[in-house]
Amino acid sequence: MSVIEELAQKQGFESMGTCSAKNLVARDEVRAMCAANTCQMYEHSWACPPACGEIADFQRQMNEYEHCLVVQTVAEMEDDFDFETMEEAGERQKQRVLDLVEAIDEAGLSAETMVLSAGTCTLCKTCTYPDAPCRFPDKRLVSMEAAGLVVSEVCMQADIPYNHGPQTMCYSGCVLYN
Ligand code: SF4
Repeated sequence: MSVIEELAQKQGFESMGTCSAKNLVARDEVRAMCAANTCQMYEHSWACPPACGEIADFQRQMNEYEHCLVVQTVAEMEDDFDFETMEEAGERQKQRVLDLVEAIDEAGLSAETMVLSAGTCTLCKTCTYPDAPCRFPDKRLVSMEAAGLVVSEVCMQADIPYNHGPQTMCYSGCVLYN
């Protein structure tokens, strides 16, 4: 097991899987889905498109890595409308990924990794975009989708489910490393 996997395991993710980072494809179609703005974050955060960067640049960055570790928080819902569990699981995933980033940093490996999260950056109650610079440019994380990845496709490559079954909620992030 790699050091990155060991560090991730300590964060308590319910599901993890690895694949080759060389097969990751940042797709313009995913960016087009962001632009459709169903999540209402397009043009609303430094961590989301268009401010987060171009798809081609994400592809170039991803090409520099060998391995991809997908990390998931999976929660059981009481019913399909259990929004409380959905929200809690989303927050848990964000915190676990931030803790993982810290652990990677403490291990001296941050320069050799690229971390992608789930959902927009929520480090601040209100994002400063576009009126003032980001408050935490070194801490903010871009989501897998904002980087152009099809999350279900990456999960399939990592041989873990994207959907863990009826009445479950799953959030995915990933770490690229060498
Ligand atoms: S750290 Fe704050 S200002 Fe920067 S992207 Fe996240 S929410 Fe916006």
